[in-house]
Amino acid sequence: MNCPFCGYNDSKVIDSRDVNDGIRRRRQCLSCDSRFTTYERLQPTALFVIKKDQRREEFSRDKLLTGLRKACEKRPLPTGAVDKLADDIEAELYHQGKAEIPSVVIGDMVMAGLKNLDYIAYIRFASVYRDFADITILKQEIDTLVGDETEVARPAGQLPLLPGEELVTMAKGHRRRRR
Ligand SMILES: [Zn+2]
Repeated sequence: MNCPFCGYNDSKVIDSRDVNDGIRRRRQCLSCDSRFTTYERLQPTALFVIKKDQRREEFSRDKLLTGLRKACEKRPLPTGAVDKLADDIEAELYHQGKAEIPSVVIGDMVMAGLKNLDYIAYIRFASVYRDFADITILKQEIDTLVGDETEVARPAGQLPLLPGEELVTMAKGHRRRRR
């Protein structure tokens, strides 16, 4: 660690203490005597995501964030809310301490996070992520949300996402095709 003032490459540690998940060291340059602080933190070991087709891929916060941003596009969310959700999910993943995580686990965490954050973003993500593989599940989710209308606080006069009738018809057609 070079001195930020003179660039000299050696310093002595004059104080050292544990902070959160790392160590804070107060240092003094051996050349110009300037003092500066360094933090040492454990680098998490690589985390791999097991995709549905069993391929493994290194976890990428950027990818997670891109997915979240897409779902939350043009939604009136507070600045930093999406980044915070990505941070929370990433922290939770590393906290689990596993080397490999199935992508569905991450998907479920995203669903849960978006559900708390924004109704529309949640439905958008669910429709892509669940791939409408089982539209009856999506309908159940929507019914649950619509049932919680007082909590969801849908603006007055806004139409439901899809008319219930139509969903039922689609679900029936879908089921027939799949079985
Ligand atoms: Zn120096």
